[in-house]
Amino acid sequence: MNTHEIRPKRLADYVGQEEVRKELSVYLSAAATRGEALDHVLLTGYPGLGKTTLAHIIAEELGSKIHVTSGAVLERPGDLAAILTNLSERDVLFIDEIHRLPAAVEEILYPAMEDFRLDLVVGKGPGARLLKLSLPRFTLVGATTRSGLLSAPLRDRFGITFKLDFYREEELQEILLRTAKVLQIELEPEGALEIAKRARGTPRIANRLLRRIWDFALVEGKSTIDASLAQKALCLMDLDDWGLGPFDRLLIQTIMEKFDGGPVGLDTLATALCEDPRTLEDVYEPFLIRCGFLRRTRRGRVITSKAYEYLGKRSLKDGRLL
Ligand code: ADP
Repeated sequence: MNTHEIRPKRLADYVGQEEVRKELSVYLSAAATRGEALDHVLLTGYPGLGKTTLAHIIAEELGSKIHVTSGAVLERPGDLAAILTNLSERDVLFIDEIHRLPAAVEEILYPAMEDFRLDLVVGKGPGARLLKLSLPRFTLVGATTRSGLLSAPLRDRFGITFKLDFYREEELQEILLRTAKVLQIELEPEGALEIAKRARGTPRIANRLLRRIWDFALVEGKSTIDASLAQKALCLMDLDDWGLGPFDRLLIQTIMEKFDGGPVGLDTLATALCEDPRTLEDVYEPFLIRCGFLRRTRRGRVITSKAYEYLGKRSLKDGRLL
């Protein structure tokens, strides 16, 4: 499936994040009235909450062209300089994972953001010269899952900062019904709600589950996803009422059994689970913390009494933990 196709294009179609939408629409219309570029925008939030979607919406609402890149691929100052010199007046430059920009590239960004100026060192040694080029007034939209990793000078150069939050069930239900319409999937509101309940507050997960359940419907010979079909498929995927899957359970069970409930350091835990620490931190932990199963303390990760209760109930119900 083409994810581009299911992305809302306009702010009015962007579901949830009420405060962000309200504030953003004020800034957008102010920029339009003044005929100026929008101030630089920093979007923070866990993966799949809609940062990329919002960046595209900003460009669309401004009637501007968007240039997309990522902090992970901009290795040298020249890489960024090439993009900056290609911008036109009021274009949007979207840098995903902006916390991954190397320091030398970040330094190019400071004068570009502040004074729309590109300072390039040409040549090496005593003959090196500083070349100052002026840039068109553009809007930088930076996205990061971890604003804490952003250097203070970079963070301070964003005039607008939005933090995206997990979505409520009804919002995810609305997103699912919209996606289903775009993809011509017959989805009943009750079916959408079942999926929404297990989507961990995250639109990307909701849309992914919808696709899997649509496959399931095809195999079952059903043309509509209703509540009972959704429940059956979600059960087959081993997602429980909280939206937790086998890996989430393995994570809390590992802390309980191998580390006496914690505290355990992130790297040690990642090694025990054969998973990348970043993935644990960005993808799995936020939702477990939100559910109240896990806590991050200064000495490491700790599971809560709620997690013990949860694992206990599951083991009583199934006679097994996983
Ligand atoms: P991020 O950049 O934060 O990882 P994306 O912008 O790629 O997240 O969003 C993931 C998917 O979820 C997209 O395909 C988009 O269709 C959907 N989505 C995200 N936020 C919303 C929203 N507020 N309304 C509707 N769909 C959304």
